[in-house]
Amino acid sequence: MKVTVFGTGYVGLVTGTCLAEMGNHVVCVDIDAAKVEGLNQGRIPIYEPGLTPMVVQNHQEGRLQFTTDAKSAVEHGDIIFIAVGTPPDEDGSADLQYVLAVADTIGRHLSRPAVVVNKSTVPVGTADRVEAAVASALQARGAVVAFDVVSNPEFLKEGDAVKDCMRPDRIVIGAKSAKALEQLKKLYAPFNRNHDRIVAMDVRSAELTKYAANAMLATKISFMNEMANIAERVGADIEMVRHGIGSDPRIGYSFIYPGAGYGGSCFPKDVQALERTACQHGYEAKILAAVEAVNDRQKDKLFELISRHFNGELKGRTFAVWGLAFKPNTDDMRAASSRNLLASLWAAGAKVQAFDPEAMHEAERIFGQRDDLALTGTANAALQNADALVVVTEWKNFRSPDFGQLKQQLSAAAVFDGRNIYDPETVEAAGLAYYGIGRGRSI
Ligand code: NAD
Repeated sequence: MKVTVFGTGYVGLVTGTCLAEMGNHVVCVDIDAAKVEGLNQGRIPIYEPGLTPMVVQNHQEGRLQFTTDAKSAVEHGDIIFIAVGTPPDEDGSADLQYVLAVADTIGRHLSRPAVVVNKSTVPVGTADRVEAAVASALQARGAVVAFDVVSNPEFLKEGDAVKDCMRPDRIVIGAKSAKALEQLKKLYAPFNRNHDRIVAMDVRSAELTKYAANAMLATKISFMNEMANIAERVGADIEMVRHGIGSDPRIGYSFIYPGAGYGGSCFPKDVQALERTACQHGYEAKILAAVEAVNDRQKDKLFELISRHFNGELKGRTFAVWGLAFKPNTDDMRAASSRNLLASLWAAGAKVQAFDPEAMHEAERIFGQRDDLALTGTANAALQNADALVVVTEWKNFRSPDFGQLKQQLSAAAVFDGRNIYDPETVEAAGLAYYGIGRGRSI
């Protein structure tokens, strides 16, 4: 099939590539000329396991094209995806300017019937606004072209995006036109062979499904962080509690890890946007407000532990920080808790030596050159002359360090484990002070 994808970010690039991999002819369009030029030369702007070879191969074989030319891109697609960003507006609601700009562009160039598919995470009612924007742009040029607008929210996880896209848990399609639904079912058929993963519904329910999923996941994290903060105060170990509750199949083990707070481009903004939607409809979403408040507090947790250990005397100290990305297997640092930690350490006069397996270029872009930051080439280099180690992201290669060596390297002999990846007794047996999240010994 002929597919057009607006936006070559995490969602657009992965979606376009996976659709090309299945034999479709895909044109990806972006307004970022440098990104498009890079993609045309085989430079992939994001780190996502498995993505680079797929992009390069499909591009070389002519099924995947990158352009800034919106007109030719619109003319190409029978199915046109919108996969552009929906960042938070000043009041926390989703900023729809990019989505509506694409809708306007589609209306300005559409010359034959097409299905417009919204993949961006957008508030309930946005499909109606997209439809109105396309219709208005068509009308302005006196054109009459049939089109449908479908909601098809994306559930891929950064770090697993290719896998999630190739083998989705579910494919939610919100459509009011049976014909458009059939076209999408046909497009997704190669991803849907093992069993039927398509969940068809009305457009508004599809739009809300995405927010409900992210809000539920964020709630699980904040709930566990709340339990961790209680555990810490009553002398319990949240890791024991986690195993204890996860064994109940109604609760389950997934996604109940306490930590230094959730970040990334989705949970923070989507919880906020859903809260705003509720508010706009006269409903106070109390759970969502609490989820957000607990997370904001949790992002300061590591700094609090550090500050307490050093009695607030951080000026002139040096901290090795392992992990800058908001989670492992990505280079994305949007709303990452590492950013809160670094800002607090710097404000207290401390220096940071940081390493992340994939996010170093992103850290360089965000922080620039500073005297109080050294971005090191290896995890070990970050430890040189440092007082203590702080683990912020649970990359696999941080999981089994030589604690004896750490004891030699860290002058204040302390480890702050923001993801509970170490066994406290093992760390302490090496002569290091250990601080985790909710492990009964931090307070
Ligand atoms: P992103 O910021 O990585 O990429 C967005 C891209 O859209 C950028 O390259 C930008 O230049 C481009 N763009 C902006 N305006 C454009 C226009 N008029 N025409 C063409 N391109 C344009 O964003 P993302 O992380 O891919 O997220 C996209 C949407 O998908 C958001 O609504 C997000 O909430 C949602 N989503 C993201 C994830 C994720 O893990 N990142 C997962 C599910 C859903």
